[in-house]
Amino acid sequence: MQARRDTELSALQNEILEAVAKGIPFASVANTLCERAEALAPGANCTITAIDSEGLIHPVAGPSLPVSYGEAIDGVPIGPEVGSCGTSAFFGTPVEVTDIATDPRWSNFKSVALPLGLKACWSSPIKSPDGRVVGTFAFYYRECRGPSDLERQLVDTCVHLCSIAMERDEVNRRMHHLAYHDQLTGLYNRYAFDERIARKMAAPPQSFGLLLLDIDNMKLVNDTMGHSVGDSMICEVGRRLAAVGETISVYRLGGDEFAVICPACNQKEALSGLAERLLRQMDHPFECDGNSIMLQITIGGVLSNMDGTSADALRQNADLALYHAKQTARGDYIHFEPGLRTSIQCRTEQIALLDKALDEDRVFAHFQPVICIRRARIVGVEALARIRAEDGRIISAGAFAQGLTDSKNAFRLTSRMLDQIASSMRAWMDEGLELRHVAVNLSTVDFQRGNLEQRLRAPFEAYGVPLQHLQIEVTENVLMDQDVANQVARLRECGMQVALDDFGTGFASLSHLKDFPLDYIKVDKSFVDNLLTDIACGAIVESLIDVAKKMQIGIIAEGIESAEQAARLLEIGCPLGQGFYYFRPVDGDTIAELLRASDCTTAKRPALTRALRHSA
Ligand code: C2E
Ligand code: CA
Ligand code: CA
Repeated sequence: MQARRDTELSALQNEILEAVAKGIPFASVANTLCERAEALAPGANCTITAIDSEGLIHPVAGPSLPVSYGEAIDGVPIGPEVGSCGTSAFFGTPVEVTDIATDPRWSNFKSVALPLGLKACWSSPIKSPDGRVVGTFAFYYRECRGPSDLERQLVDTCVHLCSIAMERDEVNRRMHHLAYHDQLTGLYNRYAFDERIARKMAAPPQSFGLLLLDIDNMKLVNDTMGHSVGDSMICEVGRRLAAVGETISVYRLGGDEFAVICPACNQKEALSGLAERLLRQMDHPFECDGNSIMLQITIGGVLSNMDGTSADALRQNADLALYHAKQTARGDYIHFEPGLRTSIQCRTEQIALLDKALDEDRVFAHFQPVICIRRARIVGVEALARIRAEDGRIISAGAFAQGLTDSKNAFRLTSRMLDQIASSMRAWMDEGLELRHVAVNLSTVDFQRGNLEQRLRAPFEAYGVPLQHLQIEVTENVLMDQDVANQVARLRECGMQVALDDFGTGFASLSHLKDFPLDYIKVDKSFVDNLLTDIACGAIVESLIDVAKKMQIGIIAEGIESAEQAARLLEIGCPLGQGFYYFRPVDGDTIAELLRASDCTTAKRPALTRALRHSA
């Protein structure tokens, strides 16, 4: 009898250990174990539960009890009087209840067991190798009784097997977690991302949105505040992304790069809405080690049903969108478009063109006169960058504007232009030619790298030109930054004039005029273009002139191309203008010629003006 028993137990043991070794999921192993145990102990109904780290019970197997029984105990906390299983887990010792109906430990739970005909329950704790209770193994009887000796022997074996299977399961789960999660942030990792995208693309009918994003200025934080602050910043960004509170999955792909998959976004608008909400998550500063860090991310996005037919193509296009956004719209979102590939190529070419021209000293300044409209007299000039191409052609700034989106280029260009501007101004002054100002266009990077005041002063001092003659032009988008506005205010205190360039193309807000002290507003060409045809446009320019006058800010209309436009501008009170109608940008010697002519008899002027109006 005992020999047969031993054989049965060892067969059971072998079957279960083999299943564990094969990596069969624990729930399935537990189910088999219950079935085999029930076969060896007729009249017993077997259940296995797991106890989680918070001490809550979760049913794992109970093949001969109804599902509702498991549901009734799921999530119940263990305790000194929580049936047989909850109590056994609580004390870490077996609990034999021979009469569920009367035992106080079952008083809160008997209503679940008795209707099923379960009258007695004997539960044993399953422990991990380090002694933690990780589950319970129970026999239910349909009569009031305790276990037999044979059943005790059987349960000893089963509990031991469960302990091995559960430990293995935990190791598997931990390994799975390690394989699919990022250690630093706890988010899913690149491996999980690759697998998920591949799986989703293989089941095409469900389209989804994919966002790739990247933290701006991560390198700067690492370099200036150290890697531990950098790591905290990555974690915080991860937390804020996940906290957007929608059905999205967030992945950290490595470094400061994240991905977000959104199954609910299958339209461009929905995806850009999500991107907008993610951007807004970064709005408040992050306090870390006594530093207050502004978080900023840039996002590129694609839709699986229109922006790529394979996982690789989709991913590449999302990368392109992100790359493009990083270059042209930091801190913002860009959706992929097929044209991006060419526009990225075009940008790369223009960057290389300007970089090479700067290296080879082929960049120089042309100057476009700014005119007093009423008197048709030159009052100032705006310096505009030009490249002399290797074949001698002159390339206008508009044709290499993308080259200026590279901050190194933009910085070098400003230095080059300032030197030429100061030197030309010196030459005009030496001839006694009168010019109120010469304007230089500045870029964001000029304000970011620091030392701007010194960079502006140095060439002017070297050529002995007073700073009062220098006007700096900044666009609204650049000026919006409070730090830039503060720097601008200081530059004005040094005597320079400040003009707000391209007014009307950015935020076009009159309220900026009171926040940021200015000397001039340059009304963008697009307004001048529509002045005669679009009533609303005329009205805007008119009221702008009105407001500016009251605030003692000068107005310069850009891009005047016809006598009619000039006449209309004069009529609505615009004092200054520039445009091809008067002069195209020309070299410094030609400016000198023009100024000389404007000093001589008026009779000579129109002829010269006509000649130059159509020059390159
Ligand atoms: P911007 O500052 O708005 O300069 C005016 C641009 O409009 C110039 O083009 C000028 O040639 C052009 N323009 C002037 N009047 C007319 C007109 O009546 N009709 C038309 N169609 N165009 C007119 P450009 O020189 O190609 O410069 C383009 C842009 O490149 C400038 O726009 C400015 O944003 C940038 N840029 C030029 N030089 C520099 C520079 O030295 N530094 C920086 N940071 N940017 C520069
Ligand atoms: Ca300008
Ligand atoms: Ca402009």
